[in-house]
Parts: sequence; C-alpha cells; structure tokens
Amino acid sequence: MADVIKLLPDHVANQIAAGEVVQRPSSVVKELLENAIDATATEIKLIVKDAGKTLVQVIDNGAGMSATDARLSFERHATSKITSAEDLFQLHTKGFRGEALASIAAIAHVEMNTRKEDDDVGVCIKIEGGKIISQDVNVTPKGTSIAVKNLFFNIPARRNFLKSDHVELRHIIDEFHRVALTHPDIQFELYNNGSEVFSLPATNIRQRIVHVFGSKTNEKLVPVEEDTEVVKLSGFVFKPEFSKKTRGEQFFFVNKRFIKSSYLNHAISSAFEGLLKDQAHPSYFLYLDVKPSTIDINIHPTKTEIKFDDEHTIYAILRSAVKHGLGQFNVAPVLDFDR
Ligand code: ADP
Ligand code: MG
Repeated sequence: MADVIKLLPDHVANQIAAGEVVQRPSSVVKELLENAIDATATEIKLIVKDAGKTLVQVIDNGAGMSATDARLSFERHATSKITSAEDLFQLHTKGFRGEALASIAAIAHVEMNTRKEDDDVGVCIKIEGGKIISQDVNVTPKGTSIAVKNLFFNIPARRNFLKSDHVELRHIIDEFHRVALTHPDIQFELYNNGSEVFSLPATNIRQRIVHVFGSKTNEKLVPVEEDTEVVKLSGFVFKPEFSKKTRGEQFFFVNKRFIKSSYLNHAISSAFEGLLKDQAHPSYFLYLDVKPSTIDINIHPTKTEIKFDDEHTIYAILRSAVKHGLGQFNVAPVLDFDR
C-alpha cells in the first residue's frame, strides 16, 4: 500500500495552532499587548470595535521591526526572544513560542505598520488568512501598530460561538486589567467604539490599582511584603471587610506574568480564616518574584498556568506574609453572632 502521511501545509498548521492560542478577541488582546511590552514600549494604546469582533488594534512606541523582521514575524516558530531550549528556563520576555502572530494572521485580516527608531521609513504589511496581500514602504511613527480585523472570518463555527459584545468586552477588560496591573510603569489606554474606557498614566503599583478599580480602593489596601531565598513577595490584599461574595479581585503575578493557581489561592483564603464572613472571597494583588529556573511556564499556550519547583514552600510563605500583613493593620476577626 502507498504511504499516506503528509506534512500539513503551513497555513493549515497555523489554523490548527490558532485554535489553541486564539479562543476569542481577548486572546488577541493578550498576545498583542504582551508583544508591545516585550518590545519595551512605554505607551500602549488598545483600540477595539464591537468588543473586538470587528477590530482589535494595539499601537505601541516600542522597538519596531525592520521590513524583513516584520515579514518574518508572521511565520510560525519565528521569534526574536529565544534561540535554544535552555533559554526556556531563563525567560525574561512574555513571548517565546513564536506562534501568536502566525496564528492570528491565519484567522483574520491583519495590517501591521512598524518602524525602528533609526529607520527613516517603516513598512506596512497586509496579510489575510495567512497570505501576504501587500508589503509597502510607509511613513509611520516609531513603534508598531497591529490591527486585527474580522477575527475568525474563515472559521464561521468559531465566529458564531462568540458571545454578546457585553461578554466579549468583559473578557477584553479582564485581560487589559491583568496586563495594566503587571506593568504600572507603562502608560495604557483602552478605547471601545471610539470612546475612552481607560486612560492609565505610568505610576506605581498602588496607584495603578486605584486608577483601575476607582478612588475608593485606596483605603481598602493592606500592604504585604516578604523577602526570602525562594520568593520575593510584594503587593496588597483588601481589608477583610471589603471581601466579596462573588470572587473578587484576585491576582497573582509571577515574574511579571498574571497566573491562575487554585493552590496558591487557597493559601490566601487560609490566611484570612476567621476574618471573612460566610462565603466571602478575599481580594488580592500579589506579585511574586522567583528565579526563572525554578518555574516552568511552558505548560499551556496561553501561559496562565505555571509549575513551581517548590510549591509548598511558596504556599507557606504566602500564607504567613498575608497573615502578618493583616496583623500589622490590626484587623480583628469578624465576630459573627448570627451563625
Ligand atoms: P513571540 O512573542 O512568542 O516571539 P509572536 O508571534 O507573538 O511570537 O511574535 C513574533 C516576533 O515578532 C516577536 O518575537 C518579535 O520579534 C516580533 N514582534 C511582534 N510584535 C512586536 C511589536 N509590537 N514590536 C516589535 N516586535 C514585535
Ligand atoms: Mg508574542
């Protein structure tokens, strides 16, 4: 019998990878914002239309790309961020898989304008469904603008699966919050359908939290700090009386990356034990710095789950640091006689 195995053409492989990387407009938001940060931008503007279904655009004032790099950036596994597998354990960038732009370009209409500071002119590249439509010399500001239009235009099933604008915008704002809270030193703006949703000046962590969640937030914050061999921890928890019935603001950032961890979440809940009313959840913004070699980020394409070498120690340190922080603020247990 004849052999039957064939290598998939690039555009098919990219479309398959896109299924993992891009679930909805907010996935595009995350990837583009992270690329802007990796390009050391200090000002980043996010523009969406129809909750990202029609347009997601990120404009940054970062390093920009040469015309050759701009073209190559849409190839699968094309990255400037790592060169060897060892680099995976010394990561200082958000990206490293070289998959995002190839995936996004496979399932949308993309226009990139980019220029490096030292170049007189930049380049404009248009790419649709993974095919380059045009590449022109272009007069454009320093940095990069990537506009992603008509997401999932060639995957009707995915497009139909998208939720209402209200829900999709909520997902986008969640991603925006995560990135903005990770990088208070960067200026961020968000516009939806032409109106400003957020305009966040560069500042410190405390002020960034206040700008994002409103001026009343300031009085709710209790600082948490701890410096050990295994982890350097800083950030804030909400005073227990401001905890919510619905899961409140719960943020872990590890080495400047938002992550989800039900295990570490439990460490915080247990530090609040006896302080919360029934079924209330603590709110927290906790920034952990660990040696890059002690974590593995390459577990899932969206990188929101990571593996720690020493999870138990981190749990214990988190728990005791939060307890200590609450204690310093003389937070008394809630006396709940109704129980
Ligand atoms: P990764 O971020 O994993 O490297 P991407 O597909 O997201 O993969 O991007 C591919 C490459 O394109 C990056 O490694 C980077 O060199 C370049 N790039 C992407 N976005 C930008 C940007 N906003 N500014 C400068 N370079 C960028
Ligand atoms: Mg990237």
